[in-house]
Amino acid sequence: MKIHEYQGKEILRKFGVTVPRGIPCFSVEEAVKAAETLGGPVWVVKAQIHAGGRGKGGGVKVAKSLDQVKEYATAIMGMQLVTHQTGPEGQKVRRLLIEDGADIKKELYVSFVTDRLSQRVVLMASSEGGMDIEEVAEKHPELIHKVIIDPATGLTDADADSIAAKIGIPAASVVDARKNLQGLYKAYWETDASLAEINPLILTGDGKVIALDAKFNFDANALFRHPEIVAMRDLDEEDPAEIEASKFDLAYISLDGNIGCLVNGAGLAMATMDTIKLFGGEPANFLDVGGGATTEKVTEAFKLMLKNPNLKAILVNIFGGIMRCDVIAEGVIAASKAVSLSVPLVVRMKGTNEDLGKKMLAESGLPIIAADTMEEAAQKVVAAANGK
Ligand code: ADP
Ligand code: MG
Repeated sequence: MKIHEYQGKEILRKFGVTVPRGIPCFSVEEAVKAAETLGGPVWVVKAQIHAGGRGKGGGVKVAKSLDQVKEYATAIMGMQLVTHQTGPEGQKVRRLLIEDGADIKKELYVSFVTDRLSQRVVLMASSEGGMDIEEVAEKHPELIHKVIIDPATGLTDADADSIAAKIGIPAASVVDARKNLQGLYKAYWETDASLAEINPLILTGDGKVIALDAKFNFDANALFRHPEIVAMRDLDEEDPAEIEASKFDLAYISLDGNIGCLVNGAGLAMATMDTIKLFGGEPANFLDVGGGATTEKVTEAFKLMLKNPNLKAILVNIFGGIMRCDVIAEGVIAASKAVSLSVPLVVRMKGTNEDLGKKMLAESGLPIIAADTMEEAAQKVVAAANGK
């Protein structure tokens, strides 16, 4: 789960990381009022969307008067902000952050991420902040420094100080940097984040270290421990199909292709998408209906897939282990009737009660294309999607 920058900064503040004073706003009037409250003389008007690269896209503006705050807030609020992370259609701006303008001397990068290779938390830091860290990693990997954190000690003073020196923090500001780095680690650890990133962390003209941006990703499996973070969820920033799916406990992710996939088990769902691609097709979604799919769940899954205007065909690929094929067949038949299926449907099922399931499908009178193997199913659905 992701949150907005202003929410990330609230968390950082709680853990002792220095952030500029700022006020989140939902209208231009609120933005001007917030600027008056802050007092200036320099403000930054910042679009709040769940994507980075806002600065480059025109979503971050420095204002030097209240009139300018109003001008920029008017321009940014409601705009369709396009960044390298939003896709070409962009994301509509519904919230702004008005904050104190900082006197930037240097822009640095710091983050904590879960590193699967070392099975630990890793601190990544670079002197090259403010820009695309992916680009730095590609062109100047030597400028990215890493520390693997021992969970028993957390981020030690020695490691914090050494990394601070490596990214160009002057000796006089190292203690300040240490406080911020250790605060960020604590925020990451205690919120069950999978990413906590400050880009840029800045050094000000008078030697202070401040977080100017804040990005968090949280481990969805740990959210039950953090109702205060769940409360920060902004559904406007999420894919409507995925929100709908989560209501029915379906693991659904929208993709760009035209072949809907309904599969039980995440591993089989991945393999199904791979096989479709192998035969030249493009999946329209990832969908794992789980081990205990009921007729209702299958019906909802069909409805979700059919809402996609790009959809050209559906592939149902089921392995009946705990799940029985006849239950799936019943679900597919009921769902196809309930939603008046408008695209070709290929079904492949294997396992428990396979014969019964196939018989039910054959006798249903529905125009279902049966397939025996994954290969055959993928070939048939790709052909169907291509109108063959
Ligand atoms: P994004 O990463 O989405 O582009 P940032 O919050 O990192 O958004 O802002 C982009 C740039 O705008 C920063 O690198 C910094 O140069 C500038 N900036 C952001 N906040 C402030 C601020 N409070 N004061 C001065 N400059 C800022
Ligand atoms: Mg940033």
